[in-house]
Amino acid sequence: MNTSPLVKRKVAVFGLDGITFDLLQPWLDEGRLPNLARLLNQGAQGRLRSTIPPVSASAWVSFATGTNPGHHGLVDFTYPAPDSYQINVSNGRTRAVPALWEIVGAAGGQVGVVSMPMTYPPQPLNGFMLCSFLTPSQESRYTYPPNLQDELTAKFGPYPLHMSEKGRGQHPELFVRAVKQMEIERAEAVKYMLQTRPWDLFMYVLETTDNLQHEVWHLLDKSHPLHDAAMAQKVVPEILDYYETVDRLLGEMVALVPADALIVVLSDHGFGPFHKFFHINNWLAANGWLKFKRTPISLLKRLAFKWGVTPINALKWLTLLRLGGMRKNVKRGRGGGLLRRVFLSFNDVDWARTQAFSVGNFGQVYLNVQGQRPSGAIPPAHYEQVRDAIATKATQLRDLADGSQVVPTVYKREEIFHGVSAHRLPDLVLHTDRAKYVSFGHADFGSNKIIEPSMGQTGHHHLVGVVGLRGPGVQSGLTLPEASILDVAPTILHYLGLPVPSHMDGQVLTHAFSDAFNAANPVTIIPSDVENRGQDDVYTAAEEAQVLDKLRDLGYVA
Ligand SMILES: [Zn+2]
Repeated sequence: MNTSPLVKRKVAVFGLDGITFDLLQPWLDEGRLPNLARLLNQGAQGRLRSTIPPVSASAWVSFATGTNPGHHGLVDFTYPAPDSYQINVSNGRTRAVPALWEIVGAAGGQVGVVSMPMTYPPQPLNGFMLCSFLTPSQESRYTYPPNLQDELTAKFGPYPLHMSEKGRGQHPELFVRAVKQMEIERAEAVKYMLQTRPWDLFMYVLETTDNLQHEVWHLLDKSHPLHDAAMAQKVVPEILDYYETVDRLLGEMVALVPADALIVVLSDHGFGPFHKFFHINNWLAANGWLKFKRTPISLLKRLAFKWGVTPINALKWLTLLRLGGMRKNVKRGRGGGLLRRVFLSFNDVDWARTQAFSVGNFGQVYLNVQGQRPSGAIPPAHYEQVRDAIATKATQLRDLADGSQVVPTVYKREEIFHGVSAHRLPDLVLHTDRAKYVSFGHADFGSNKIIEPSMGQTGHHHLVGVVGLRGPGVQSGLTLPEASILDVAPTILHYLGLPVPSHMDGQVLTHAFSDAFNAANPVTIIPSDVENRGQDDVYTAAEEAQVLDKLRDLGYVA
C-alpha cells in the first residue's frame, strides 16, 4: 500500500558507483553476477551518460535533481567560493535546487535515502536519510531522524561511514577484502531499513565500487602501463570475489523490494584506465596566466619547486624509503598547514596578477575577473579574449612523450551549464582524453611537471555508465538508446505517478515502458520556478578538516 493518495507506485533505486559494462560485461556473460544480470536482462537496460565533468559529486546530484550542474551548482568535491579564493567543500546544502526526496516527500510520499553522496548534513524529510561519504566522523549526526543512528548502532554497531585505508597501495588484496567487509556490514543496516520503515521511494548507493576501481584498475587491465602480472594473479580473484559479494548483497536487497515496485539500478559515471596526471595549475603558470608572489619565502619555495621539492616527490621518497606511516602526514598537510607552509601553494599565488586558476580534478578552470573576486585581474571587457586564448592553447597541448593531444575538447561554461548556479561554475572545462590523462589535484602545486605518470590511482571516471529498469510496465529484454543521468529523476517521478517539474533538464525514459503503460500514463509537466537556495558554509572548521582528510584518503585533494 502506498502512503500517499498522490503516489501511485513504489520505486527502489540501487546505485553502484562508477560501474561500467566495460568491466562487468564479461562477468555478466559468464554468470558470475547473476542478480545484476537478471535485473538488467529482465528489464530495460542501457548506457547512461554522466555529467561533464563526470565526477560523483556532480553526477549524483544531477541524478537526484534531474538537472545539469548549472542548476544544482555542484561540479566537484571542492570549489572556489564564488567571491574569493577560498577552497570550499561541497555538501548537501550546496545544492541549489530540490532533490527527488523533497519533491516526493512534498507529495506525501515516504522516502528513504541511504548513503547517497553529497547529502550530509542530513535534512528533515518525509521518511529517513542516512549520510555516509563526507560525514565528518562517527561523532556527527548522520541520520534523519536522529534516533535512526542510535537504533542502527544498537542493532549492528556503528554504520561504517568511511572506507578502510587498510592495505591501500602496497597490499591491494587486503584493501579489497576490507571494502568487501564494509559492504557486508552496510548491507545489514540497509536491509533492516528496507524492512522496518515504510517507503514509496527508496535509494541506496553502494559507494565502494568506485573506490576499488580507482585503486586496482591496472590489475584488471593488461594494457595499463602499471600492470603487474604477478600481483594481478594474486589480487584479481579477490576483486572478483568482491564483485560477486556485491552482486549477492544486491540480490538480498532486491528480494526485500515488493514485486510491484520499479527497480532502478544505475552508476553515476563509467570507469576506465588513466595513465598520467595533467597538472593544470602548472600549465597555467607556464603560460603566464597564473603568477606567483615575489616575496622572499615564495621565491624560495619556487626555487625549491623547480628543483623538485613537491608533495608528489615527497610521497615517492617516503614510499621508496618505505616510510608508509609518514606518507599519511604528507597527505594530511591541510590548508594553511604543513603542505602549504613547506610547498608551493595557492598561498604563494599573486592573485592581482593571476588571470586563471584550477580547482578540482576534472579540468575546471576559473577566470579571475575584476568585480567578481577580490583581486580580479581580467577586466570584464577582456574576458572572452583571455578565455579563448586558454581554450585554444589547451587543445594545442601535446604530451612530449608521444605527441598525444592531452585536451581534445574544451567546453565554455555556457556550452555545458545553464541555470541558477551557472555563474559559480568553472569558466572552462578542459576535458582531457580520459583514457589517458586526469587533471588531478594532488595539491595546489603537487608536482613541478605539467604531465607525468600517475601514482596512487590507476583508474578514473569515464563518461558513460550503466542504467537498468525492471518492474511492472517496463519492457523486458530491451536495450535502451544511450540515456542521460538527467533522465532518471523525471522517469522516477513519472513512475510514481507524479508530474515532472519543468525545471528538470532530463526527459522521462518512456521508451523503457510498454505501449500500454505509456497509453495509460501520459507524462505531465508542471511549471516550476527554481530559486537558488544553495549555501556555501556548512561544516565547522574542524569538520571541514575531517572531511578534507577523507577526500585526501581517496586521493581527491591535497
Ligand atoms: Zn562516482
